Amino acid sequence: MQYDQLSNYWVSTIAERQEDRPRLVGNTQADVVIIGAGFTGLWTAYYLKTLSPTLDVKVIEAERVGHGASGRNGGWVIGSLAGLERHVSSLPMAQRQECCQILADNVDEIGRVLAHEGISADFNKGGAIYAAARYPGQIAIQRDYLRHLHTLGYDEESCYWLNSEQLAEKASFRNGYGGIYHRDVATLNPARLLTGLAQAVEQAGVTILERSRVNTIERHRVDTPEGSVQAAMIVCATEGYTEGLHSLKRHIIPVQSLVVATAPLSEATWKEIGMTERPAFADASRLVNYGHRTADGRFVFGARGAYAFGAKSKHTLGISQADIQMRRKLLEDLFPAFRDVEISYGWGGSLGLSRNFRPHAIVDRQRGIATAGGYAGEGVAASHLFGRTLAELILKRESALTHMPWVFASAAQQPLKRWEPEPLRWLAAQTISLSYVAEDVLMQKRRSVPFLKPTLTKINDLFASIIE
Ligand SMILES: Cc1cc2nc3c(=O)[nH]c(=O)nc-3n(C[C@H](O)[C@H](O)[C@H](O)COP(=O)(O)OP(=O)(O)OC[C@H]3O[C@@H](n4cnc5c(N)ncnc54)[C@H](O)[C@@H]3O)c2cc1C
Repeated sequence: MQYDQLSNYWVSTIAERQEDRPRLVGNTQADVVIIGAGFTGLWTAYYLKTLSPTLDVKVIEAERVGHGASGRNGGWVIGSLAGLERHVSSLPMAQRQECCQILADNVDEIGRVLAHEGISADFNKGGAIYAAARYPGQIAIQRDYLRHLHTLGYDEESCYWLNSEQLAEKASFRNGYGGIYHRDVATLNPARLLTGLAQAVEQAGVTILERSRVNTIERHRVDTPEGSVQAAMIVCATEGYTEGLHSLKRHIIPVQSLVVATAPLSEATWKEIGMTERPAFADASRLVNYGHRTADGRFVFGARGAYAFGAKSKHTLGISQADIQMRRKLLEDLFPAFRDVEISYGWGGSLGLSRNFRPHAIVDRQRGIATAGGYAGEGVAASHLFGRTLAELILKRESALTHMPWVFASAAQQPLKRWEPEPLRWLAAQTISLSYVAEDVLMQKRRSVPFLKPTLTKINDLFASIIE
């Protein structure tokens, strides 16, 4: 990885590689060629080699390992999927519960593999708090969300209600009204995971090539400016960085998301905040706010996303002072203890959003092409599950994973719908985001605002039913 160490906190915690890995030069072959060295690409390579050690696997990365969202995220390892209800709502309860169990087990499995491979990535399963902590209207939102989680198939043991006293035992919010505790969530340091995982796959015999952007995908062949690889199976693991590559760019758009990290906080400050078990935390708002206490006592906090006109991926890391100040203000609103805290890092990246607002794992054996993505900002755990699933499907193994509702045998089977053209996409994104902000501002006002507040909530419920 090559980042501005002043921007990305995670990268500051690892010894950065000085040299690039080799580029792809000349024409070569492989059994499987994977485009993109983020979590999806590397986990797919990992499981291909675990299941079939003699397989020739090559990973081709346009920049360096972890250039995309995998090197830039908030470090949540979520035992769920964004858009899960779209996959499971038509299934009987027993099947929904099976899906939820697989998603929950996936978190533990990541912890197990890290221990097995000796990858020290600060994996910590402290659960997550989905809090009502800014205004009383959030209590009803979170109560509804808990009911929703139970109808999806999570049981009372995995997700349950915390009253204000129980919430205070976990974390001291300015206005801790209550919230949901979700047991199946962990956190980790993504840069450490990437470094360890890349090493593990290389030791298993995978070749990783850097600075080699794939320009075209033909039948069983990928081309970069200096070379090509012929392979029986091509895996596209480019998610929010797909851009000009292949027709996938019409199906997955990048949404930019920004994160800050505080300086390490004193023990006294942590005593005031709590979070002893280092749970992840998210706020009950349509405008996402989330964070967690890192292993070295900082707070990593992500908030709000934005769509850039023309579906541009964010390649630079830096974020503006205004972006940092907005997140700092939100932090102070949530936790009084953050009033004078220094923000040491601020960075951003792009996550991938599919037009169906749900992730997919597709292996099209006839065309010799596979892909996974559309994780909508919840891809740290999902990329492990989907990478493993792609590997099993490519090797024609059957397991519970290969029968999940998010698995498809061709892009035609899963309606990988196209996004609308510009300026429609941009206009829709602006409208929804302004409407969400307006609702959040109104909800914070204690006095009732007849007509406007309920109308806005109804409009936003409608938007949410379309996009969430
Ligand atoms: C700021 C931010 C915070 C987030 N926080 C969380 C979180 O806390 N928890 C969570 O679960 N998820 C989070 N996410 C989402 C999560 O990081 C992603 O879903 C996940 O990392 C996607 O992994 P990936 O390997 O599929 O894609 P990426 O990591 O984006 O990797 C794609 C790779 O493909 C490469 N590539 C693209 N085109 C080409 C080409 N033509 N040739 C060769 N290589 C190419 C890119 O350079 C890139 O390295 C966050 C995302 C962002 C941006």
